[in-house]
Amino acid sequence: MSAASAPVYLDHNATTPVDPAVLEAMLPFLQDRFGNPSSAHAYGRAAAEALARARAQVAALLEAAPEEVVFTSCATESINLAVKGVAFASSARGRRHLVRSAVEHPAASEACAYLAREHGFEVTAVPVERDGRVDPSRVLAAVREDTALVTLIHAQNETGALQPAAEIGAALRARGVPFHVDAAQSVGKVRVSVRELPCDALSIAGHKLYAPKGVGALYVRAGLQLHPLLHGAPYEGGRRAGTANVPYAVALGAACEIAGRWLASGAAERQRALRDRLQAKLEAAAGAVLNGPREERLPNTLNASFPGAIGDQLLEAAPEIAASTGSACHAGTHEPSGVLLAMGVAPEAALGAVRLSLGRDTAEAEIDRAAEALASAWRRLRR
Ligand code: PLP
Repeated sequence: MSAASAPVYLDHNATTPVDPAVLEAMLPFLQDRFGNPSSAHAYGRAAAEALARARAQVAALLEAAPEEVVFTSCATESINLAVKGVAFASSARGRRHLVRSAVEHPAASEACAYLAREHGFEVTAVPVERDGRVDPSRVLAAVREDTALVTLIHAQNETGALQPAAEIGAALRARGVPFHVDAAQSVGKVRVSVRELPCDALSIAGHKLYAPKGVGALYVRAGLQLHPLLHGAPYEGGRRAGTANVPYAVALGAACEIAGRWLASGAAERQRALRDRLQAKLEAAAGAVLNGPREERLPNTLNASFPGAIGDQLLEAAPEIAASTGSACHAGTHEPSGVLLAMGVAPEAALGAVRLSLGRDTAEAEIDRAAEALASAWRRLRR
């Protein structure tokens, strides 16, 4: 795709491009620095040093200790390790109840459903308010004596809604209830520190922050009881067997360091302003209605319903942009997003929803082109 003809990419919550500096950092480990980090010779030592540095870079972004970082293959694996690993470790102590929100990513909700179906756990799904955020008091009211874990999505992938995770985490810590945070969408877009957000485990996804697909990490607070899901050699502190994917870990480390600098530079505020520009234009030109909180939201995300339209058809009619909807399309029929329905959005409005997610390089001219393309597609479809 040539740059001039390429659609404006507004789907950064689906995946991001690999940052050129990330690619440069990882390439030597796919070439001459190919050693196994467990090998006792010079090749192995070079790989082990690179892995240690990457672990420190991930830990630095989260303000964690390097030993608390476990490299995984993706956020889905991190989430499964946290949810099932803590559930299995707690089960022996008679704790067989899980709490989650109604708007989790399937990685968390399906892990909970599996534990209920196959292992007899009980799961409480806490509803969200109209803006897509949970009320902390409802989460805390769902917690019982036998609660093994509370798992909560930090930033919702469709709406960008930021959950009051710090407040919930502090209350859970006081009650001694383990807390896992799915931060796949938030890390790299907003500041996420495990010092300010008290939690016992936190999942991250490389490809949402300019590292390649196929790498993730799980922060595991020192002392958290967690069963591994992969059994084998005692890598990653006994929490994940399998030879480390050194090039991809290096990529994630580099991406975390770059994300830290990007956040410190105040660039997220400029991104928020661009997103708000897009929102204002679409509200004015196409009557778009915001889904999600106006303020407590990722600075790059806009989910809006276009009156009288179907989101998928709207995007088809606007090939100048690449974005997505949360709706499912089966054999020509459209089903609205479960996340929007859980917020109480009417099914017709939910069908008209489009998610636009900006990246670090999204330019003002692209925002204006996207707004014009969507508004004119909406007008054509309404005729
Ligand atoms: N959690 C959230 C909030 C996500 O948005 C995603 C991906 O979209 C995931 C988990 C799963 O990430 P992956 O598919 O990379 O494992």
